[in-house]
Amino acid sequence: MAFSEQIKKYSWAEVQLQLYAKTALDVEQALAQKNRTWQDFLALLSPAAEPYLEAMAKQSHALTLQNFGRCMHVYVPMYLSNKCANFCTYCGFSIKNKIKRLSLTPGQILTEAEFLLEQGHQQLLLVTGETSKIGVAYIEQAIELLSPLFSSIAIETQAFELCDYQRLRNKGLHAVTLYQETYNLGSYQQYHLRGNKADYWRRLDSHDKTGAAGVHKLGLGVLLGLDDWRVDSAFTYLHLKYLENRYWRSRFSISFPRLRNAEGYVADHEISDKQLVQLLCAYRLCNPFVELNLSTRESANFRKNVAPLGVTHMSAGARTSPGAYSDTGALEQFEICDQRPTEEVAASLRQAGFDVVFKDWYGHKPSIQSGINLY
Ligand code: SF4
Repeated sequence: MAFSEQIKKYSWAEVQLQLYAKTALDVEQALAQKNRTWQDFLALLSPAAEPYLEAMAKQSHALTLQNFGRCMHVYVPMYLSNKCANFCTYCGFSIKNKIKRLSLTPGQILTEAEFLLEQGHQQLLLVTGETSKIGVAYIEQAIELLSPLFSSIAIETQAFELCDYQRLRNKGLHAVTLYQETYNLGSYQQYHLRGNKADYWRRLDSHDKTGAAGVHKLGLGVLLGLDDWRVDSAFTYLHLKYLENRYWRSRFSISFPRLRNAEGYVADHEISDKQLVQLLCAYRLCNPFVELNLSTRESANFRKNVAPLGVTHMSAGARTSPGAYSDTGALEQFEICDQRPTEEVAASLRQAGFDVVFKDWYGHKPSIQSGINLY
């Protein structure tokens, strides 16, 4: 049964009621469990868990250490195009915004790559707006250009079809990040007014296509601030569980993008720093193996403080417009908060005792040189 069918068994209002009815006793029971359930996740997400943040953080830190060691994986986004046919009311790239539009040429992509390689980056996230002009052939060409240079390539683009993901995977695609933005159908329709992304149900089943195509890692998340973050996260967790059961060969990651001000948009449902820590710890406590990703949308200080509590992946030295590393002056998709260069982020992580990992994957390139006899 597709996730779009499964989700119909749950009503947003009922989940919200259940979550806000959780008590201190529910939280204590959840903290005492080893194998935690969705109900435990709801308890740990609830307002009743707020006084237990320290206990949650301690357990979250210990579980992360146990399963990921002291590794902090570092990646960087490369924006390829800000052309977009969609109208998402919160986004600077929305078709309604009169901004300079561009898509990088192969030569410009290589110039950006050169800059990022010099910074030591090896894990690349390619980002585009959503338009038929930036279709699978464009992404395929970019992967072909970049996969000999970088060890892993992920994409955050429009949702493609199964055959497209298979095609990209054969070229070296490693991971796909696709945010549902909000699982509340009513809010989703309110924020997504035009274009393919306005189809809530299609987006909901898109990760099934990436999983079925055998993509190595699937990234999920909601845009924290569009609706009640607790309820949206409860639904993200359901989605994660569904995908984990079905595509057990893949790995999974959760991201925590907090809505930042873009052109003409201010976040409605804010999530505080403390609440974001609670959310991150709740994920770790209920899913010890999922990768947790904190981007440069967050401030340097916040990232430093939160890093030991469960985070496994961080972006560094990021820019959010096409050609930004070679300075085209195009509008950024959202405001970057942690402006530190890559080297400074890495040094600060090392100082805090992390092993900074720029490369843990060799893509489809041969990893064993001749002369080594395995047998
Ligand atoms: S969120 Fe994505 S699809 Fe929506 S306007 Fe921005 S770039 Fe386009």
